[in-house]
Amino acid sequence: MEDQPQPDTPRTALCRTMRQLAARGWAQGTGGNFSLLLSSQPFRLLMAPSGVEKGDVTPDDLIVVNGSGAVVEGSGKASAETALHLAIVERLGAGSVLHSHSVYATILSRHFAAHPAITWEGYEMQKGIAGVTTHDSVLRLPILANNQNMPQVALEVLQLLVQHGNPYGILLAGHGLYAWGKDLFEAKRHLEIFEFLLEVRYHELLLRNGTPL
Ligand SMILES: [Zn+2]
Repeated sequence: MEDQPQPDTPRTALCRTMRQLAARGWAQGTGGNFSLLLSSQPFRLLMAPSGVEKGDVTPDDLIVVNGSGAVVEGSGKASAETALHLAIVERLGAGSVLHSHSVYATILSRHFAAHPAITWEGYEMQKGIAGVTTHDSVLRLPILANNQNMPQVALEVLQLLVQHGNPYGILLAGHGLYAWGKDLFEAKRHLEIFEFLLEVRYHELLLRNGTPL
């Protein structure tokens, strides 16, 4: 008899997403982190433990943290970046936060570090971001200086997002991209859209400088 497919659970869904994103090269060297809200009352956030290869994480390896970032389930250690995940989930109402360390996010966040944001206008792919209905609009991805003090970064991110509304993504200069959404599906779509647009911008810069691709 054939094995019946197992129903999707938050744990299997998050592991599958991490496997897919790691396969794109967005979480090399154990980089990146990924989380999914299990419940608000009490606050329970499912996430990958720190210091592990994100593409190899199994459902049982995942940890659950509370609103203070303390591990309440699982044996792994919570990442230093947990504070930022918590701030985005609790303050912006996100259901999932996906954080990549991609090459394009790293290069462009440094290249544009003196600018408040990277903007795109006229691209059909902008419509992949929630609330965007036409390419004829301006999409902004704010940039913030990197800092090893993640609670401080979380505070600055929230202040910045108050100015920008909820742009569903933010770049930390020389570090990587955070993207989020109301659920895992939307967060993944937002991460992919921003990564696509960053890659496009990188190649446009080369073309504009007359450098062969
Ligand atoms: Zn990171």
